[in-house]
Amino acid sequence: MKKLRLILGDQLNINHSWFENLDDECIYLMMEIKDETNYVLHHIQKIVAIFSAMRSFSKQLKEKEHNIIYIKIDDKANEHSFEKNIINVLKDYDIDIFEYQQPDEYRLDLLFKNFQSSLGVEVKHVCSEHFLSPRDLVKELFKDKKQWRMEEFYRYMRKKYSILIDDDKPIGGKWNYDADNRKRWNGEPKATIDFRPTHDHRELFRAICNEKINYFGEAQATNFRWPINRNESLDLLEKFIEIDLCNFGNFQDAMDDENWRLFHSFLSFSLNTKMLTPLEVINKAEDAFHENKAPLAAVEGFIRQILGWREYIRGVYWSQMPGYEDNNFFNHNKNIPDWYWTGKTKMRCLSKSITQSLENSYAHHIQRLMIIGNFSLLAGIDPKNIHHWYLGIYIDAFEWVELPNTLGMSQYADGGLLATKPYVSSAAYINKMSNYCSKCNYNYKEKIGPDACPFNSLYWNFFDRHQDKLSKNPRLGIVNSQLKKMDENQKKAINKKANEYLDNIDVI
Ligand SMILES: Cc1cc2nc3c(=O)[nH]c(=O)nc-3n(C[C@H](O)[C@H](O)[C@H](O)COP(=O)(O)OP(=O)(O)OC[C@H]3O[C@@H](n4cnc5c(N)ncnc54)[C@H](O)[C@@H]3O)c2cc1C
Ligand code: SF4
Repeated sequence: MKKLRLILGDQLNINHSWFENLDDECIYLMMEIKDETNYVLHHIQKIVAIFSAMRSFSKQLKEKEHNIIYIKIDDKANEHSFEKNIINVLKDYDIDIFEYQQPDEYRLDLLFKNFQSSLGVEVKHVCSEHFLSPRDLVKELFKDKKQWRMEEFYRYMRKKYSILIDDDKPIGGKWNYDADNRKRWNGEPKATIDFRPTHDHRELFRAICNEKINYFGEAQATNFRWPINRNESLDLLEKFIEIDLCNFGNFQDAMDDENWRLFHSFLSFSLNTKMLTPLEVINKAEDAFHENKAPLAAVEGFIRQILGWREYIRGVYWSQMPGYEDNNFFNHNKNIPDWYWTGKTKMRCLSKSITQSLENSYAHHIQRLMIIGNFSLLAGIDPKNIHHWYLGIYIDAFEWVELPNTLGMSQYADGGLLATKPYVSSAAYINKMSNYCSKCNYNYKEKIGPDACPFNSLYWNFFDRHQDKLSKNPRLGIVNSQLKKMDENQKKAINKKANEYLDNIDVI
């Protein structure tokens, strides 16, 4: 029986059981297609990173003597659709069975289910053997609850995998050391590995341009810094454990005008394309704690991101699809300002965070949440537009992880399923966690003066205009009571200032 097995661009798991044995009757199929580059406008580094990681993976399979058909973006016979390319290969090679690993995206899951009957052969799907929880675990755990709390899920996972657990209790006595992890950074962190000197993506970049694929972002794509295979990913992981993990906790929420990475791992692309497994990353971090290389708070904080947030977010995605992307709790409908595509705004925090995203296809969590996401929510931008922007710009953006983070956590568009209150702040928080404000055109202390920071008036204006939806939220007690007590004239002046900024959003 001849088998055809499809490998998607985010299924680069060389330790998958598929590859344990050589099978002459089995052919692996990989393809670079326009359908997958064009569903939103993508950053060029993301397109190049995925295709080059796929090319590197297919080389690895060939070296292990597996049979592989690789359809490049500029191959003449490429029909740029999964279905058409698969049908052609099934015919050309007289295949009896088609197999695929369960995709992580609802769109592809549906596509594969829908075209199965047109293939004319037996179809099977298997697990991708990557995640630590099944798709429906979160839904199952929270089926009778209004709010789905990550912390509850995280504790369940800690126990299930016995991570930082001793005798069924959390090592150190606490489950979560987040409260210790909120320091501002001042200094020069060590550099991590940059793969630029060893990468040359010129040929691929030329092919992408020749095929007229739409993209945006800095075209440093010919040699960018992201790892594109398992060995590079393992090197990056090792370096992170060696130089950064010990500081990860303390400075997890910090932002710095000069240092855009600080102590973040840069591992999301390797994880999301499955070049690394979450368990091996978690185990390495836990080992570092037991070998006294990093403190408990840092290790726990890092592990929580992967064992907790990453798995939980995926569970939320599968429980809410299809239709999650249509949520718009606040009925926000503004367009994204043009400067989201250039970084040209006088607001230093946004200009730095967006410019670095355009240059590197990366921003760390707090920049995504408390700078860009925060502003987008305060300004009333349509959450679907924001979702598409995030999905296109970040190197690690795959819908299963990007959509709940953007729409749920950052934009509160699901009305509080995922976040207990909207993640918004005035300039005080940004100034506390970063040094952006000291170099800004705006004054972070001012609410209504000519150079008042826009975050301040927009913050109060947001709560004022959404009182109907937020006044009863128990986590917003302080904000709501401050708003109630606010002098009417002051409120008017703040709302006037906020509207001035909103009316001139393209030039602030
Ligand atoms: C609005 C918004 C959009 C986001 N979009 C994405 C996305 O498209 N893809 C993505 O992988 N992450 C996304 N995140 C989560 C997080 O910002 C990134 O995982 C992280 O910045 C990646 O950089 P890093 O590898 O250096 O992470 P580190 O800070 O070093 O964290 C380690 C790992 O933890 C995991 N992680 C941390 N936070 C989260 C989270 N909230 N959800 C899921 N995994 C998490 C990631 O795998 C990450 O690699 C988003 C967050 C927000 C607020
Ligand atoms: S003053 Fe306001 S706009 Fe400027 S960096 Fe600070 S928070 Fe951002």
